[in-house]
Amino acid sequence: MKTRKIILYNEPTVPEIQLKTLEKFLTEIFPVEIEIRENFFLDSTDNFFEKIASTRIFDLKKQFEKHNASIENIQIEKENKDMSAQEEMTLYDGFEFQNTIAEFIPMNENVKDTLHIIFTNKLTCTFDENDFRYHARALIGSNPSIISTTGMIEAPAKPKQYYLDLMINFSKNRIKEINKKYKGEFLEYHDSRISEITKGYLLQAIIYYETGEAFCEHKDCRLFNAHWQKDLFFSQLENKKFCKKHQDILIELKNQSQ
Ligand SMILES: [Zn+2]
Repeated sequence: MKTRKIILYNEPTVPEIQLKTLEKFLTEIFPVEIEIRENFFLDSTDNFFEKIASTRIFDLKKQFEKHNASIENIQIEKENKDMSAQEEMTLYDGFEFQNTIAEFIPMNENVKDTLHIIFTNKLTCTFDENDFRYHARALIGSNPSIISTTGMIEAPAKPKQYYLDLMINFSKNRIKEINKKYKGEFLEYHDSRISEITKGYLLQAIIYYETGEAFCEHKDCRLFNAHWQKDLFFSQLENKKFCKKHQDILIELKNQSQ
């Protein structure tokens, strides 16, 4: 495989990620060196925070437009608060966000054999030309790869009936009640299952970088691109296996490196 080293950048507001566990998991599958680092945002410059803040999107139905970040929004980036404590969801253009991170990776590390994987609590979205709106994404592939834990929670859909229930009565109390009714059926903030599910997205990031194909169309494969929370749980928590094609690809990648 072309990757010799993978650098995992932590997201401290999401302790469920468990980088040490992920490191062990990866070394069992890939013959690569793994390095764990602090949050990519730690000790960053004002210029970096300003650029990140300017990757925000404000209208789901409009393509990304360059804009200058407000002082208030730059400050929010610096504080990096726990998303579960935020009242309003902030959205970012995933590719703009990725480009900004890429810009700030040191030259000597910005090389093909080193794959940078950035964990973030920020909700990355991509604009879909088919329906002309932004959609939340858990993974923005390539190098650097961005894995959004908020994307895991918000991108795959909850049960259909959940949304119907919400539509019938839309008050704060009612939302709480409905969430209780469906508890366990979808990921929540600080859900302990995030740790295991992260492994699947991590594999997708690596396979995408290696082969140019991130997702698998088979539900019984860890590389399956789940559009529903229930499918995410199946491929990442219950089944946890690879389809035949991807199992072969993994073996091939391993053999190539020896
Ligand atoms: Zn597969």
